[in-house]
Amino acid sequence: MSQRPVISIQSIMRILPQSQCGQCGFAGCWPYARAIVRGEAPPDLCAPGGMTTATALAALHAGSGPMAHAGAPKPAQRPLETLGINVHECIGCGRCLPVCPVDAIAGAVGFLHAVLADSCTGCQLCLAACPADSFVPAPGECRACAATARYRYRYARKRRRLARALRPESRRVATARKQREITEALERVRKRRGWQAAPPTLE
Ligand code: SF4
Ligand code: SF4
Repeated sequence: MSQRPVISIQSIMRILPQSQCGQCGFAGCWPYARAIVRGEAPPDLCAPGGMTTATALAALHAGSGPMAHAGAPKPAQRPLETLGINVHECIGCGRCLPVCPVDAIAGAVGFLHAVLADSCTGCQLCLAACPADSFVPAPGECRACAATARYRYRYARKRRRLARALRPESRRVATARKQREITEALERVRKRRGWQAAPPTLE
């Protein structure tokens, strides 16, 4: 009886383009790679990677099982194209910051934003988020199938950061934060009413 080869997520990640564009229907290359390993997704969903990527993924299965047969992926809904920001259009709203899967946009709310050219994968997810239409093509090297360690690293770093932000606060940290907020609120009231130390009593 032939045994299904053991395939790691990392071996698949080395083949996927790492644009993190979501055109496979998953929230990035890593979730797609995990679905392939679990046998939940076929190897031919990555449109930017095209037939080259699909064939390489199928080959990992060493010619056995249904996953070893890749059809031609659907054409890409949008091409991978690196972007920049038109400084005359950016209104500093910050809406593009959370959608960039590799944190390639630098900026803060109220300030002009900029794209870090060597980190932009060309996924174009920021286009739909920008209400001012300020993203413009900024052609760099072709990103398709680049599979660079930089994109993997930056994507993983953003995932970890978001996971940390979603983690519930420990009781000790929550208590300290509440205490600090109460102290700061009291201080603001004191200043506004001109109290020196403690608020006046009723008697
Ligand atoms: S590059 Fe391919 S595998 Fe990665 S998110 Fe885009 S479609 Fe999915
Ligand atoms: S700047 Fe835009 S195109 Fe570049 S990686 Fe971020 S979301 Fe994708």
